[in-house]
Amino acid sequence: MKQLFMTQHYDVAIVGSGPSGASAAFYLAQNGISTVIIEKETLPRYKTCGGGFVFRGRKNLPFDIKEVVEKEFHTVDIYLGKKLHFQTHREDPTISMIMRDSFDNLITQKAKEFGATLLDNHKLTGLSFSDDVITLETSY
Ligand SMILES: Cc1cc2nc3c(=O)[nH]c(=O)nc-3n(C[C@H](O)[C@H](O)[C@H](O)COP(=O)(O)OP(=O)(O)OC[C@H]3O[C@@H](n4cnc5c(N)ncnc54)[C@H](O)[C@@H]3O)c2cc1C
Repeated sequence: MKQLFMTQHYDVAIVGSGPSGASAAFYLAQNGISTVIIEKETLPRYKTCGGGFVFRGRKNLPFDIKEVVEKEFHTVDIYLGKKLHFQTHREDPTISMIMRDSFDNLITQKAKEFGATLLDNHKLTGLSFSDDVITLETSY
């Protein structure tokens, strides 16, 4: 059987479109660096997660995520053993609840808006080095 190989060149390849990979792609693409995100699942993909996003992370994101926030908690109770109980209340939501399919996909879409390429349904299956070129092989 004849095999068909398609080769594409990028300055940076990121494996995985979770928050870390998608955010890295966002900043790279925003700075004009040709970037590809290689993701084995098809986006938006379900991800097991509690979905609680602390405000420190939310406020540091370079774009608004309100469209994917399901619920916001301004009051948090912390219990240490049976006797210690602390309660905090903040004007800003201490915890924002998100579903990872829509949250991760939003960051990826923002990276794409700056020109990052998404190859989803592509599982990284191999990596090889020769001179100054790194070749990544995927399942697709
Ligand atoms: C049960 C559970 C509950 C959690 N609850 C919370 C919470 O409430 N709040 C919180 O802040 N954190 C929580 N976390 C932690 C949070 O899920 C992780 O910190 C976060 O997902 C890490 O993001 P990441 O981008 O590094 O990796 P991931 O989100 O794991 O993304 C990795 C991506 O890489 C892809 N991938 C993997 N292998 C390949 C391959 N060979 N080729 C191509 N793609 C590949 C995967 O499909 C995936 O999309 C929880 C984790 C678990 C397990």
